[in-house]
Amino acid sequence: MLGARRRACCAHRFRALAFINIAGIRMITFADRSQPMLAKLQEIVQRVNAAANLHEALEIVVHRVRAAMDTDVCSVYVRDPTTSQYVLMATEGLSPSSVGKIRMAAGEGIVGLVATRQEPVNLANAAEHPSFRYFPETGEQRFSGFLAVPLVHFRQSMGVLVVQQITQRVFANDEVAFLVTIGAQLAATLSYAALGSAIPPGEHGPSGPIGLIQGLPGAPGVTIGNIVLPSPLADLDAVADRAPDDIVEEEAGFRRAVRETQQELRASADRMEGRLTDETRAIFDAYVLILGQDDLVDEVVARIRGGNWAPGALREAIAEHAKVFDQAEDAYLRARAEDIRAIGRRILFRLLSDVTVERQYPSDAVLLGDEVSLARVADVPHGKLRGIVCLRGSVVSHTAVLARGLGIPAVMGLGPRDVRSLDGHPIIVDGYRGRVFIDPLPAVVEEYRRLVQHEGQLSAKLAVLRDLEATTTDHVQIGLGLNVGLLTDLDVAANLDVDEVGLYRSEFPFMTRETFPMEEEQYEIYRKVLQAFAPKPVTMRTLDIGGDKPLSYFPITEENPFLGWRGIRLTLDRPDIFLPQLRAMLRANVGLNNLRIMFPMIGQIDEIKAARQAVDRACRELGEEGYECPAPSIGAMVEVPSALHSIPALSRYVDFFSIGTNDLTQYLLAVDRNNPNVARLYNHLDPAVIRALNGVIRDARRCGKPASVCGEMAADPGSAILLLGMGLGTFSMSASAVLRIKWVIRSFSSQRAKRVLYRAMRMECAETVRTMLDEELCRAGLGELVLA
Ligand code: PEP
Ligand code: MG
Repeated sequence: MLGARRRACCAHRFRALAFINIAGIRMITFADRSQPMLAKLQEIVQRVNAAANLHEALEIVVHRVRAAMDTDVCSVYVRDPTTSQYVLMATEGLSPSSVGKIRMAAGEGIVGLVATRQEPVNLANAAEHPSFRYFPETGEQRFSGFLAVPLVHFRQSMGVLVVQQITQRVFANDEVAFLVTIGAQLAATLSYAALGSAIPPGEHGPSGPIGLIQGLPGAPGVTIGNIVLPSPLADLDAVADRAPDDIVEEEAGFRRAVRETQQELRASADRMEGRLTDETRAIFDAYVLILGQDDLVDEVVARIRGGNWAPGALREAIAEHAKVFDQAEDAYLRARAEDIRAIGRRILFRLLSDVTVERQYPSDAVLLGDEVSLARVADVPHGKLRGIVCLRGSVVSHTAVLARGLGIPAVMGLGPRDVRSLDGHPIIVDGYRGRVFIDPLPAVVEEYRRLVQHEGQLSAKLAVLRDLEATTTDHVQIGLGLNVGLLTDLDVAANLDVDEVGLYRSEFPFMTRETFPMEEEQYEIYRKVLQAFAPKPVTMRTLDIGGDKPLSYFPITEENPFLGWRGIRLTLDRPDIFLPQLRAMLRANVGLNNLRIMFPMIGQIDEIKAARQAVDRACRELGEEGYECPAPSIGAMVEVPSALHSIPALSRYVDFFSIGTNDLTQYLLAVDRNNPNVARLYNHLDPAVIRALNGVIRDARRCGKPASVCGEMAADPGSAILLLGMGLGTFSMSASAVLRIKWVIRSFSSQRAKRVLYRAMRMECAETVRTMLDEELCRAGLGELVLA
């Protein structure tokens, strides 16, 4: 507890996550300085962002903050995730030899106190504070004035930023605001760095598993493999380091790319002669000049000779050059950094268009990228892909959906971090807990080997369910469907005994191509899918792009894409895209008659009416062309909240409903399904979601229309108990979940499931529901599914 007098010294009580709005403090300046605070802030933030690593970032902070605030000391303490201690990681003003040695537990010393309370402390004389702890190695007794702000990220203390003064003084409000703002920025930087390897081991032993990074579960399973970084074409920053196959060839290729870029620039300038202003012409000239100078070229060549391939060497050299300009005081010179990067991108384009050699993949490839696109997954030869790890996204991102379809583990939402040097590094992917270990310790590898083995045993145990009925213990028959999207899914599906394809995501073939597939091409694909499952029904969903499903060749730029032009809204507006797709589906169905068509994102009655009319029109036209097209069953996805309350009205126009719990959860909870910042709020077990689902399934039953769930909830063993309790007739999921869900169905009676459902609907939060469902699974002898 702070004493009353000292409490009064706390200039501001900024709560956790209080990030000062920069615009709001634009006009504040330090009393004795002329440079506006905002400019100082921006400068520090820019330099921190340009830092090559965490260590450099911390050094920049302590150096710059001390200078900007004119204090005697600035230090950063960072939380060691293994020991939960706060470790002095950088200082200017305290003894440099104390870095890495001074450690304080949460609550210990003023630093520990600030970390625990998550609010700043501003003291005229720190030594008088009851929590003050003296470390002789710092020489700290000389300092009196003490201002410390917590570094908080998503409610977690990441560290403490401190400034100190020899004289006794209370820091002014604008100074506190300044430090809090820097602290907010630094907290985010800290959270993105892999702290496990950044903190030196203390006296408590080694600092735990190397490179453990917590993300979000994407697809279940565990795997041990080697990282493969896909290099996107246009983005210099995203280029990975890689050893060149042939250094001489690599250097020659680079020099060729430089020459071509110079020629291209000259040619562009010449073509535009007369239309260029003097200033623009000067930019072209400057580019050619920069390329003509030997420094940049020499530097890249040196790095190639040092063992990096040309794109990686280029990225490093461009970053070095740009950094020099970035740090310039003069605004004009700073802008030159952008010129350097622009040149880098041009050369990169040339280099990569020159890459003719096929990428070699290890037999245990784990793709790691910002967002691993479908096309990248498709590049990996069959059987070599073991896992997917994305810096962005969550369990319902399409990459995760795809991974589940392929039966490989995935971890999502690791957050922005520099992964460029990780190509070829060993990695463990734990898709259950949503975490990865990069360069894991042997003991961790050993532990995960055991888990992989356990997985194998569970799969073998579940295999006996393959030919058994999906019936509850009180003999209620449940339909099982598959979610598929790629033709490769068909191989996996061939081994499973399911009743139908509950969701064919037709956007997947659109996402793996570079232009819209034509009607004929679509026909070929759909025909294969329908044939593979005939006579079992296949529910094909019409194109659901927009939101988190972009097409590279059809960019849609919107402020709020999830509430924008997506799903049925888009296809109804684009009959040139919609009708060929419907025609291709209907033609593929000729002679098979197992097609059902379903529309995504139905929110209004007019939409389902218009969509039906489009099907009728396509049928009519095809009939006129001589095809015998039977009219397919028509369904609507229930995934927009307005549809929840329109089941009776929608029932007049559809034959069935399929509930998309992925989108429904995001829209009901107002939580973006791909945003790691709010990922912890995204939970289909939220009682509000459960109650809504119960209502839809009840209304559909009353209207005499069958309902299924094709969102991820159907693949979650705990949730499956609730859906059984609601009386759901069909569960549709990716192949990897089928036997697990069948096990749940065969272990519960519908009455028991109903009792569990009623308890869940009375609960207050998703976590309590989850705990209760885990207990129910264990009680029913399905504890292995909880462990998984
Ligand atoms: C859903 O939203 O639950 C769903 C199945 O569709 P998608 O995940 O493809 O949006
Ligand atoms: Mg959806």
